[in-house]
Amino acid sequence: MVDLHGQYLRIKDEIDQSIQKVLNSTAFIQGPEVENFARALAEYTGAKFVIPCANGTDALQIAMMCLGFKPGDEIILPVHTYVATAEVIALLGLTPVFADVDEDTFNINVDQLEEKITNNTVAIVPVHLYGQCAHLEPILKLAEKYSLAVIEDAAQSLSAVYTFKDGTRKKAGIMGTIGTTSFFPSKNLGCFGDGGALFTDDEKLAEKIKMIANHGQKIKYHHEVVGINSRLDTLQAAILNVKLRYLDDYSRKRNEVASYYDAALADVPGLKIPFRTPYSTHVFHQYTIKIPNERRDAFKAFLAKEGIPTMIYYPVPLHFQKAYRRPGVKEGSFPVTENLSKVVISLPIHTEMEPDQMEFICNKIKDYFHS
Ligand SMILES: *Cc1c(COP(=O)(O)O)cnc(C)c1O
Repeated sequence: MVDLHGQYLRIKDEIDQSIQKVLNSTAFIQGPEVENFARALAEYTGAKFVIPCANGTDALQIAMMCLGFKPGDEIILPVHTYVATAEVIALLGLTPVFADVDEDTFNINVDQLEEKITNNTVAIVPVHLYGQCAHLEPILKLAEKYSLAVIEDAAQSLSAVYTFKDGTRKKAGIMGTIGTTSFFPSKNLGCFGDGGALFTDDEKLAEKIKMIANHGQKIKYHHEVVGINSRLDTLQAAILNVKLRYLDDYSRKRNEVASYYDAALADVPGLKIPFRTPYSTHVFHQYTIKIPNERRDAFKAFLAKEGIPTMIYYPVPLHFQKAYRRPGVKEGSFPVTENLSKVVISLPIHTEMEPDQMEFICNKIKDYFHS
């Protein structure tokens, strides 16, 4: 699915030097590379403030700790997402309120959002799934109307660009109250371990985020609020400092692979290639196709036999997960998501794919549907 080794070898000298510098300095915690990376990422995204942290899940948790939510407050999120989004809501004693997604974009269905809002709603968490921004402009309008926070989960879509009706273009993660992302190795900007970051334009929030990520202290050993310990390692920051310079190349490469797949697979009967929204660029964290009519699992097994890996994101919708299941939740509560869990399948896509690999994969897929 990914070729992290090949990607490393291409920039090995720069990475090795950057790591060696940290080893020589032994400033493993909060070394200068962390601040340098925060500054570089702020410049890259256009965020006023970037606060690095230990991983993308912590980033979501810190965001919610910062905004002063109380137990019982409701947070609306898409039900078709990675568990981390719901997990931190539940951990903080907040109530996750699931919303179904759009069957073409895979992102939260903005037409069904307003009916989810109650007196207890405090935030909406759009997730920019698979590499494409959720439809943020209507979400921001609703949030303004009902005074809700918007926490963008940009773990899969760092570097995607959203276009507003007036032509303004903004990068994923910097449009809401707070944005979050992850540098898990397989993410579009991946480090060599765990890492994450938060984005905000609000200086007060930025200070609070920093404080909460650092045991609730601004001054050492003076704890103003309950915080957590969530830092980006200096070594990871040193790696990210190098890799951030390649992020646009990586996105371009992923788009080349996607265009190849699009052209080769568009007319194959029995599958549906990804939909591209007019309002967001796509950075193809995943290239996710749909195979209806209960053929998906046999298709996956066929490709596996040919040595082609594929993944299902996500095979069990959150509302059916034991940990998040509510009494009375029935089959059919979120029909689009339930259907997607049966039809989606993601093909290999990464920065090191070679034309012969793409050709091999597409030929096998065509073989399957023509046989
Ligand atoms: C990866 C991911 C996360 C969590 O990131 P970690 O760094 O693994 O904690 C959160 N949300 C989404 C949508 C993700 O894909």
